[in-house]
Amino acid sequence: MKDYYRILGTDSNATQDDLKKAYRRLALKCHPDRNPDDKEAEERFKEINEAYTCLCDPQKRMNYDRFGAAGAPSFEGFTGGFGDIFENIFGDFFGDAFSGRASGRARGSDLRFDLNITLEEAASGTEKSINIPRWQGCVKCGGSGSKDKGPSVCPACKGAGHVRFQQGFFSVSRTCSRCHGQGSIITDPCEACGGLGKVKNYRDITVKVPAGVDTDTRLKIAGEGESGVRGGPAGDLYIVTGVEEHPFFKREGMNLYCKAPLSFPQAALGAEIEVRTIDGSHKLRIPPGTQPGEGFRLKGMGMPRPGSRHKGDQIVIVNIAVPKHLNQRQRELLEELAKTAGMQGDTDSKGLKKKLKDIFTGAGTQ
Ligand SMILES: [Zn+2]
Ligand SMILES: [Zn+2]
Repeated sequence: MKDYYRILGTDSNATQDDLKKAYRRLALKCHPDRNPDDKEAEERFKEINEAYTCLCDPQKRMNYDRFGAAGAPSFEGFTGGFGDIFENIFGDFFGDAFSGRASGRARGSDLRFDLNITLEEAASGTEKSINIPRWQGCVKCGGSGSKDKGPSVCPACKGAGHVRFQQGFFSVSRTCSRCHGQGSIITDPCEACGGLGKVKNYRDITVKVPAGVDTDTRLKIAGEGESGVRGGPAGDLYIVTGVEEHPFFKREGMNLYCKAPLSFPQAALGAEIEVRTIDGSHKLRIPPGTQPGEGFRLKGMGMPRPGSRHKGDQIVIVNIAVPKHLNQRQRELLEELAKTAGMQGDTDSKGLKKKLKDIFTGAGTQ
């Protein structure tokens, strides 16, 4: 059985005050922040906390004195509750010593800006002027938030920033809710910033978007986030790109897909067609006997890879356009063709329907 009194270096006659003093001394000595990577100190620290968590509560202590550790509640989850006890007892003097809050120097927050661009802009790269809001210290009041007379001492905590009150057997310290720990309140707020001590400013920044970005590409612009506190470094600005859907091209990674309509004679006899590309147009030779849904690759005419000369491909999927209206002459010719090719009737309509379906769903790519 663990001897909580021995762990704290006291005996069972110790008063609450003795226990508290012993705990304070040991916890400081074994605190993990003072003993980094020291497993033994960490174990000892846990033990000290377990012991004190039990003995500082009169009811738990009584149970412990009677039944030993088994009579005390389980401590498996004690770290959660322990945090509060620890804060309460050490809050004020551990705060500065271990968290580095003393200097008040802090890095500014990072900012995120969502930037939408077109597929053409993503393909060629672009430069965009953006207007980003940032908090900056108020010039009018020098960041104090007060108009003429300076801030007044907080009446709730009398300037301490925290208030003490009695909870059971020990005194507890909490951040003052009136002044949020500042120790002072603003009674005569600055008109420019409304007492905040900072104002929202809009700044124009020119962003170079490299060629090849995609949706959710993050571009980091160092030092353009919120300014730091008391000389701390500024945060970073992250531009997150969103590439708009294109009416003609469908993008998949570095490749671009598009559909091109062919007439039946073009598909059957072969043809040279002009195909739209992301930055102009390109001639594409269609061989005789081309089937609906067949794909043709235009090498290197897709999207670039950011920071490289390499480019993806454009894939053209052909579609056979069936005329809706025929004149007399066209009808005669087609009927003639149907006879000679043995294509009369609907013997092949099933296969044709499937092919048409493939065209519209984009299947049948090479
Ligand atoms: Zn101000
Ligand atoms: Zn206060």
